[in-house]
Amino acid sequence: MCGIVAYIGPREAYPIILKGLKRLEYRGYDSSGVALLNNKLQVYKKKGKVAELEESLVGKDLHAHAGIGHTRWATHGEPSDRNAHPHSSASGKLAMIHNGIIENYTQLKTELIKKGYTFKSDTDTEVLLNFIEDIQKNNNCGLEEAVRIALKRVVGAYVIVLLDKDQPDTIIAARKGSPLVIGIGKGEHFLASDASPMIEYTKEVVYVNDYELAILKADELILKNLGNEKLTPFVQKLDMEMTAIEKGGYDHFMLKEIFEQPETIFDCLRGRLDAEKGVITMAGIQNNIEHLKNASRIIMIACGTSWHAGLVAEYIFEEICRIPVEVEYASEFRYRNPVIHKGDVIIAISQSGETADTIVAIEKAKEMGAFILGVVNVVGSSIARISHAGAYTHAGHEIGVASTKAFTAQLAVLTMIALKIAREKGTIDQTRYMHLLGGLHNIPEKVKEVLKGSGAIQQLALKYKDAGDALYLGRGYNFPVALEGALKLKEISYIHAEGYPAAEMKHGPIALVDEHLPVVFVATKDTYYEKIVSNIQEIKARKGKVIAVISQGDDIISKMADDCIIIPEADELLAPMLSVIPLQLLAYYIGVAKGCDVDKPRNLAKSVTVE
Ligand code: GLU
Repeated sequence: MCGIVAYIGPREAYPIILKGLKRLEYRGYDSSGVALLNNKLQVYKKKGKVAELEESLVGKDLHAHAGIGHTRWATHGEPSDRNAHPHSSASGKLAMIHNGIIENYTQLKTELIKKGYTFKSDTDTEVLLNFIEDIQKNNNCGLEEAVRIALKRVVGAYVIVLLDKDQPDTIIAARKGSPLVIGIGKGEHFLASDASPMIEYTKEVVYVNDYELAILKADELILKNLGNEKLTPFVQKLDMEMTAIEKGGYDHFMLKEIFEQPETIFDCLRGRLDAEKGVITMAGIQNNIEHLKNASRIIMIACGTSWHAGLVAEYIFEEICRIPVEVEYASEFRYRNPVIHKGDVIIAISQSGETADTIVAIEKAKEMGAFILGVVNVVGSSIARISHAGAYTHAGHEIGVASTKAFTAQLAVLTMIALKIAREKGTIDQTRYMHLLGGLHNIPEKVKEVLKGSGAIQQLALKYKDAGDALYLGRGYNFPVALEGALKLKEISYIHAEGYPAAEMKHGPIALVDEHLPVVFVATKDTYYEKIVSNIQEIKARKGKVIAVISQGDDIISKMADDCIIIPEADELLAPMLSVIPLQLLAYYIGVAKGCDVDKPRNLAKSVTVE
C-alpha cells in the first residue's frame, strides 16, 4: 500500500511524478504529496485523491529536476494534510516518503522527544525521518551514512526515499519488505512502487532487494547493502505495455479487467496446456515434481481474494491429487506456532507478489523446512523471488482495487498444477485427465459467453441496489465462489454481504432471511445440485429473494428462483472460473448504480504491503 514515485534527470520532475502518482493511486488514495528540490526544497501535500493535489498546485512554481511523490494508505494517523507525505525533517533540510510501517516508532519517538524534538504529524514516518536527521547531526555524517545507521535500528517494513537540500543532485532510497523498482533512462533515473510510472520512458529496470540502499544521481545508480558494500544492479527488461495501464474505452478499470478475462485466462493457459496431446508444460512444476507429488501435505497461504482461490484449489487438489490440503490466512499463520514438516509444500498465492503477511508467512515456513511454490501475477515481485519455485498467472497488470482477472487466472494456474501433479502421481485416470484438459481449454470461450449476459446483470443490479444486506451461498467448488461474490459486493458497493456454505446457512444466517433479503445462490450443475435445490427451497419458504447462478438447461432452479443468471455448463472442478464472473459483474453494476467509486473503494488499497 502507498504508492511512491521519484525522478532525477534533465526533465521537469513534477509532471512525471504527478502522472506516476495517478497510476499508483490503486495503492492508496487517502492523501498525496510531492517534494521538489530546486535550490530550495518545496513540499506540497493534500488530503484526498491526487486530482485534488493537482488542483491545489495550479499556478505554483513547480520547476525542479529532482522530486519525490507519494499517494497514501494511512496506517498511523488519520488521512489529513498534516499526516500526508512527504514529511519534512525538524530542520526542514530533508524530505521523505515512506511505504510500510515502522513498528518500533513509539520507542524511537520517546527517545527523540527526550532530546527536544516535536512532531507535526502522527505518523511513524516522521519519527524515522527525524531519527535519521538526528543521527546525521550527532555523527556529523552524510545522509547516506545516517540512513544506513538508522535502518539498523528499525523494526518493520519500508521503502523510504529521501531528498536532502544540501545534496540537490542525489536521491537516496532503501527497501525492506515493500516493493521498489528503479528505471534506468539516458542520463535520468525513475523510482516507483511498480513500473507503471516509468513505462513510457524506459524498458530497463532494477528491482531493489531487501536491505539494499540505492543512491541515485541523474547519470549514476549505486546500489549498496547495509554494510556499505557495493552491489552490481541486476538490470532486467520491463515486460509491460502502455495499454495495460489505460482504461481502453471502459468506464472503470474493474469493468475492463472483468471483460479481459477470456484473454487473461487464455494467456495463462497459452504455451502450457496442450489439450489434444494431453500435456501440461510448466517448468517450475516439472523441475520440482518429486517435492510436489511426494508432499505429505499442501498448505495454501494467501489473503483476501487469493485466499478464496486457495479454497477452490483445496477441493481440486484433494479430489485429484489425493494430498491433504489446508488453506491458511497468511496473517494468522505467521503469528501462530504452526506445525510444519520437511515434506510439506506451501503454495503461496498473491496477485501483487508483495503481500506483507504472505511474505513473512513464507519466510517462516521456509525456515521450518517447507518447500515453497509461489503463484503470483507480478513478474519479479518479492514472493516470486523468495519462493523455491513458482508459476506466474500472466493476468497482466491489475489496477482495479477489487481483484477480478487475477482470481480467475489463479484458478487456471492452480488447476493446471493440480492436474500435472495428479498425472505424475497416477491419482487421476486417463479419461478424466483428458476430459479436464479439454474443459480447461474451452474455458476462455465459455467466459466470453458469460460476459454476453452483462446487460441482464446490469438490470438485475438496478433491482437489488438498495438492499441493506445480502447472503451468498454455494456448496463444494462453488462455496468459495460464494465467499468471493460476497467480498466483491462489500468492497465495491458497501452493502453488507456474507458468504456461507449453503448447508451451514441453517446454523445461523437463516435467521436473517425475510422478504427483503437477497440470497445469491451459486448453483451450477454438479455433485451437490440436488442438495442446493433443497437449500433454495428453505430460503423460498422464508420468503427470501433468490438470485441463482445456474447452468444452461437447468429447468428446476430456473422455476424456483426470483432471478436467474445462466452460464454455460462446465465440469464442477472448472465451474468457479465461470460462476464467479456474474458475481463480479453484479457487484460492479450495483456499485456504479449506487454512485460508488468502484476503482477506488473507500478505505481499501491494492497490494497490501503492510500487516
Ligand atoms: N506508515 C505510513 C503512514 O501511515 C505509510 C503507510 C503505508 O505505506 O501504507 O503514513
